[in-house]
Amino acid sequence: MFTRIWEYLLSSIFPKRCLGCKVFDTWICHRCHGILALATQQQCPICTNTLTPFGQTCPQCVQKTDVALDGVYVASTYQDPLLKKLVHYFKYKFIRELAQPLALLLAQSLRHSHLPAPDILVAVPLHHRRMRWRGFNQSQELLNALDLQIPQDSKHLIRNKFTSPQVKRGTRTKRQKNLVGAFTVTDRTIFDGKNVLLIDDVTTTATTLNECARTLKKAGAKNVSGLVLARD
Ligand SMILES: [Zn+2]
Ligand SMILES: [Zn+2]
Repeated sequence: MFTRIWEYLLSSIFPKRCLGCKVFDTWICHRCHGILALATQQQCPICTNTLTPFGQTCPQCVQKTDVALDGVYVASTYQDPLLKKLVHYFKYKFIRELAQPLALLLAQSLRHSHLPAPDILVAVPLHHRRMRWRGFNQSQELLNALDLQIPQDSKHLIRNKFTSPQVKRGTRTKRQKNLVGAFTVTDRTIFDGKNVLLIDDVTTTATTLNECARTLKKAGAKNVSGLVLARD
């Protein structure tokens, strides 16, 4: 009920128009979606300056003791202003229905990537305080909209430490330290021996994904990679 009133109010203030070509009644039309840029190369998610196949973590970064993430596949790029706008409307203007076209972009790029199929898909969890503020977990919405016939789990990786957006800045090591212990696995049998693919909207220095990977690997996961829309 509340959602419907909200949607009505929203549509009378901002009529729904394609964020690309301004055609009415859609946030992104079929034509504009079709020309969204797919990433043409992938980098190591940790150092971000080594090109690697499928965005695998490079040999140097793999050796760092605090690195558990095996790779991150980035679907598109923020150099595409339309993608940047779509993500902004999705996350900060709370246009939840953008999950559908954005998830489609993730699915298309995953098909493109020739990445080995994961055993299980997991959305990067939000702390319940952030969840209350936004009203939804953007990563979970993307995962729900993904139509990949792969099992998913949304319950057993939880975020129990709140980190303010300010602390997100700073060096990778500083950010990583701030996140230690932020996530918990509540049932180890879910991830034991599995290849996990984490879904998130955007990544910067991959510290959140890496901390999820550390937690999942401690719970027995074999391989943990990420799939995101863009690198900020
Ligand atoms: Zn359009
Ligand atoms: Zn690297």
